[in-house]
Amino acid sequence: MTAQIIDGRLIAAQIRDSLKQQISALPRAPKLAIILAGNDYSSLIYVRNKQKAAAQIGLETQLFHLEETTSESDLLQLIDQCNADSQINGIIVQLPLPEHLNTHRIINRILPQKDVDGFHPYNTGMLQNNEKPYFIAATPLGIMTLVKSVCPILSGKNVVIIGASLIVGRPLATLMLNQECTVTITHIHTQNIKELTRKADILVAACGVAELVKRDWLKPGAILIDVGINRQNDKICGDIDFDDVLSTASAITPVPGGVGPMTIAMLLKNTLDAYFLQNKPL
Ligand code: NAD
Repeated sequence: MTAQIIDGRLIAAQIRDSLKQQISALPRAPKLAIILAGNDYSSLIYVRNKQKAAAQIGLETQLFHLEETTSESDLLQLIDQCNADSQINGIIVQLPLPEHLNTHRIINRILPQKDVDGFHPYNTGMLQNNEKPYFIAATPLGIMTLVKSVCPILSGKNVVIIGASLIVGRPLATLMLNQECTVTITHIHTQNIKELTRKADILVAACGVAELVKRDWLKPGAILIDVGINRQNDKICGDIDFDDVLSTASAITPVPGGVGPMTIAMLLKNTLDAYFLQNKPL
């Protein structure tokens, strides 16, 4: 068996094309405010990529690039301004923030209706309740689309997630549970992790440890989603040892070209959805 490669680049391009078409029919471009504090190297690259992808589909971005030393009250004031600005449809704060800033207090200040990252407790709480949040975090949303491209019916599947972060593992577990999957979340303190991963019909690795998952972690025929982005010997690799698992899995997302492009496409989709939400006919 050789695993099917799930082409995140292709699926993301199809989503972006559809968004571009919808945006071209609008009276004005939807607008995303991006707040960046400091000069974290990876954050600068992520922000640039988001801006570039937005411009390509006709979506406007406004970058608020603050000093590393910016105060919490200044940042909160900026969020208040963006909340009140009717031209701004979506607001994201690039994480991680400098250490002196309280991430929860800052995210919680964004209006849930403009929280296109889906991190506000209103949105995460609604997801948890299996009700309809305004927005769902882009990475787990993208993962659901990738998984469904090879496995349309998820009910009853065993899903194991490696990593319990607020931005990937936890919301993804909820989304899978809401699709009637049996979900196990593992993390750094999980014991005998391989015993759990070997039961997975769908295994999602989101721990940030280069090529942690090997062939002997898998149930033969498992669907593998690799969220990790790790730099190893000047090369980007995932949390799954791609070459090692290829003959055991039934499908796998590559790194790069899997989850990454989907995350950006879903952020753009959320921003267009925010525009529609705020411009609903009365
Ligand atoms: P995080 O550091 O917030 O969380 C990591 C999680 O993995 C924690 O729950 C931790 O307990 C667990 N973990 C760490 N080492 C482990 C181990 N050896 N065994 C089992 N569990 C372990 O990370 P995050 O923000 O969720 O990101 C995870 C990875 O996904 C990173 O490589 C990040 O760059 C990548 N990421 C990619 C995208 C994308 O769009 N492709 C988006 C977000 C994050």
